[in-house]
Amino acid sequence: MKKVVKFGGTSCASAEQFKKIKDILASDISRRYVVVSAPGKRFSKDIKVTDMLYGAYAKAEAGQDFSGDLKAIKARYDEIIGGLGIKLDLTEEFKTIEDGFKNLVGKDYAASRGEYLNGKVAAGYFGFQFIDAADVVRFDADGNYVADKTNELLTKRLNGMDGCVLPGFYGATADGKIVTFSRGGSDVSGSILAKAIHADMYENWTDVSGFLVADPRIVDDPEVIKCITYRELRELSYMGASVLHEAAIFPVRSEGIPINIRNTNSPLDPGTMIVESTCNKSDFTITGIAGKKGFVAVYIEKDMMNSEIGFCRKVLQSFEDNQISIEHMPSGIDTMTVVVHQDEFEAKEQQVISEIHRLVDPDTIELATDISLIAVVGRGMRQNRGTAGRIFSALAHAHINVRMIDQGSSELNIIIGVANRDFENAIKAIYDIFVTTQL
Ligand code: ASP
Repeated sequence: MKKVVKFGGTSCASAEQFKKIKDILASDISRRYVVVSAPGKRFSKDIKVTDMLYGAYAKAEAGQDFSGDLKAIKARYDEIIGGLGIKLDLTEEFKTIEDGFKNLVGKDYAASRGEYLNGKVAAGYFGFQFIDAADVVRFDADGNYVADKTNELLTKRLNGMDGCVLPGFYGATADGKIVTFSRGGSDVSGSILAKAIHADMYENWTDVSGFLVADPRIVDDPEVIKCITYRELRELSYMGASVLHEAAIFPVRSEGIPINIRNTNSPLDPGTMIVESTCNKSDFTITGIAGKKGFVAVYIEKDMMNSEIGFCRKVLQSFEDNQISIEHMPSGIDTMTVVVHQDEFEAKEQQVISEIHRLVDPDTIELATDISLIAVVGRGMRQNRGTAGRIFSALAHAHINVRMIDQGSSELNIIIGVANRDFENAIKAIYDIFVTTQL
C-alpha cells in the first residue's frame, strides 16, 4: 500500500506542527511520499512565507532593499530547524536566493523558494530523500503544465525509491525556468505524485476535518461531508467552496485514486473521502451547498423566439465577441436569460446590448443586477422526490424571492439565483431544511 501525503501551509508552519506530521507518518507505514507547502500562518495575523517572498521580490523589482525581508524569512526556517533539533544550515541557500532576487530571475522563482526550503527541512527531519520539483514537474514555455512529460520524469526519478519529499507548488520549463501553479498549487503537486506512483490513496492534510456541507462563516458549525464524488466536488469548488485547489482532482481522477482530506491537528478524524463514484449514500439528501455573489442576469424576450433558428447562437455570439464568459442560461419559450459575472459585464454592457439588438432584434432586454448564485449539490437528488420542492418552500418560509432556477440534466445540482442581500439567509434556510431538521 502506498499513500501520498500532502501537508498544507498551516500543517508545516512551525516545529510543533512538523512534529505532528512525524507522528502521522509514523502511525502508518504506507505514508512515505510526502509533499509540503511553504510554512503558512501560525496564528491568524501571521504572514505566510509565500506572501513574504512575493513581498520581498516586489521590493527587488522596485530596486528597493529586500535584505531585511529575506532575513525575516530565514528566521522562520531557522526557528523550525532549531525547534526540531536537526542539523541544517540554510545560509548558502539564502545566498543563492539573494542572487536570484538581485538578478530578477522571476516572481515564480521567488515564490517557489518557500516550498523548496520547506522540502529540505522536511527531508532532513523525516529522513526521506529530497526531490527538487524543478527536475520532475514540467511546464512549457508559456507556463502551462505538461502532464505526460512530468509523469515520465517523475516515474524515472522515483524508480527504485521507497519514499521521498517533494516540495509542492512549482516545477520548471525544459530550460530550467521555475514556474508555479496558481495559489494553493501544492495540492496539484500531491495529486501529480499520487498518479506517478500509482498511489492507493492521496491524503491531503490541512487544518479542517474535511469539506463542510456549507460555509462555516454563514452556517454555525456545519456538518462534515464524509464522502463526495469528484463531480460533486467540482460543482462545489466552482461555486466557491475552497479546501482543495480546483485542478488537484484531475491527475488522480484519471487513475481512480481517492483523495482523503484530513486534519493535521485532529489526525484521528476520518475527514472527507473524494471518490470517482460510490454506493455510499450521503447522510442528507444533499451533499453540499456553495455560492457566489455578484452576477447579473441579462433577460432577453422576443415573441416567437423559439421558432427563430440561430437565435441563441447569435445572442451568445455577442457575449463571445466581447470576451464575456457565461455562467448559466435558463430559458423559456420566448425568453432567454444569460447569467454573467457583473464586474466583467459592467464594463462592456452597452456594447453587448447593442450587439444583441443588431443581431436578433429582441422585443426587450432587461438586466437584473446584484444576483447571487447558490448551488445545491448532491448525487442523492436523482433518487429523491421533492428535493426542489423542499428547497423552494424553505426559501419561501425565509421570505426569500427566487430570481432564477437552473437544474442541470445530470440532476447533480440545482442552481438558484437570489438577490445578493438574501444570499446568507438563503444558504442558512437550505442547510436547515436538509441538515438540521434531519438530525
Ligand atoms: N505556498 C503556496 C501558496 O501559499 C502554495 C500552497 O500552499 O499550496 O499559495
